Amino acid sequence: MSKLALLGGEKIRKTPFVSNACIKDEEKKRVSAVLDSGMLSGFVAKKGDFFLGGAQLREFEALVQGYFSIEYAIAVNSATAGLHIAVAACGIGAGDEVIVTPYTMSASATAIVMQKAIPVFSDITENRLCLDPARIEKKITSRTKAIMVVHLFGWPAEMHEILNIARKHNLFVIEDCAQAPGAKYKDKFVGTLGHIGVFSLNQHKTITCGEGGFAITKNSDLALRMQLVRNHGEAVVEDFGSEENYDIVGYNYRMTELEAAVSIGQFRRLDYLNSHRIELAEYLIEKLSKFKGIILPRKDDNTNVYFVLPMRLKRELVGVHRDTFVKALIAEGIPFAAGYVKPIYLAPLYQKTLKDKSVYDKGICPVCERMYEEELMLTGVCKYPHTKEDMDCVVEAFDKIYNHAEELKRFEDESCCSYRRR
Ligand SMILES: *Cc1c(COP(=O)(O)O)cnc(C)c1O
Repeated sequence: MSKLALLGGEKIRKTPFVSNACIKDEEKKRVSAVLDSGMLSGFVAKKGDFFLGGAQLREFEALVQGYFSIEYAIAVNSATAGLHIAVAACGIGAGDEVIVTPYTMSASATAIVMQKAIPVFSDITENRLCLDPARIEKKITSRTKAIMVVHLFGWPAEMHEILNIARKHNLFVIEDCAQAPGAKYKDKFVGTLGHIGVFSLNQHKTITCGEGGFAITKNSDLALRMQLVRNHGEAVVEDFGSEENYDIVGYNYRMTELEAAVSIGQFRRLDYLNSHRIELAEYLIEKLSKFKGIILPRKDDNTNVYFVLPMRLKRELVGVHRDTFVKALIAEGIPFAAGYVKPIYLAPLYQKTLKDKSVYDKGICPVCERMYEEELMLTGVCKYPHTKEDMDCVVEAFDKIYNHAEELKRFEDESCCSYRRR
């Protein structure tokens, strides 16, 4: 086999992997009809027919309700907005605490800060990379109002244990399902287990309308409050005679008819796109399982929809640091990322501005920090329009790197990489 691409050899993979949305005729036809109608948004912030949006939006919400067999769906213009209406609908406000994982996209925690509440970060498990139920109770105080669960990378969190803790302490459970539409915990869709589930339709998610999102709930009070926060609620609560909601501060989180039109076509393709992801990820997991020191997701009785394929690298078994290994993969033309995101509490917002609100010291979530600094790597190649042949390129690149382990180790020793001094 030729020299490692990292050391000047030829790449395994010469054509780039693609990362575009799967847009078909249905979206094009619907968008074109909306444009022809001249009504690009159906919303008005007034009591009456248009308080709940236009025809496309309502059709989209009905589609979502049917899929999840749930009473209410509320479409919004991002999952960040969806998380914010969820936190606000639960009545979470200044000084309240919400327990949240530090290993997530920033908005899971920012939605709490937006309500002037306090994110309390609780560590993850190394196997699922989601909140560790065994650590949550130690973080509960008299001010705790909710647990924000994130089903990271399409992998359901340990909901049975988390829901039990929430019931015992009378806490809301908000599920951030931005990376897990269609994933199931046992036989139930994630997003339907807690009080509210929130999903994203941004460009990088499984299905997309560019920017968008939606929340789902069984609870009519929470649904109304979310609808009020979505659409300038403070301007309509009097006309609604909704005295219990006079505290509502509304925003403009309204989804346009264009986005809703795209979302309908996309949502109808969700199961197809997920089964494609699952097929490729399971294929790749099987092929990669021969490599010593690479720990891959294991199948269980949940449905993991593989938003990305995460894996852990054990340096003592592979011989090089994860960062070196990922560099070698990228050089071979295989898109991989090292570490996902920095633990959220290490961002300047928490280190500089919010540092007096709670404990945000380095070291508070050691498992998450180890995943970020040492072990976790991930790839987003297991998806449409890729095929098993594309997955074979990934396996070839691993083979090549393992066959050149000594050279890679020498490269690591000779280059003065910062991680060697950590
Ligand atoms: C993408 C994402 C969000 C935010 O989604 P937007 O629609 O971009 O606002 C929130 N949480 C997680 C876990 C995400 O991956």
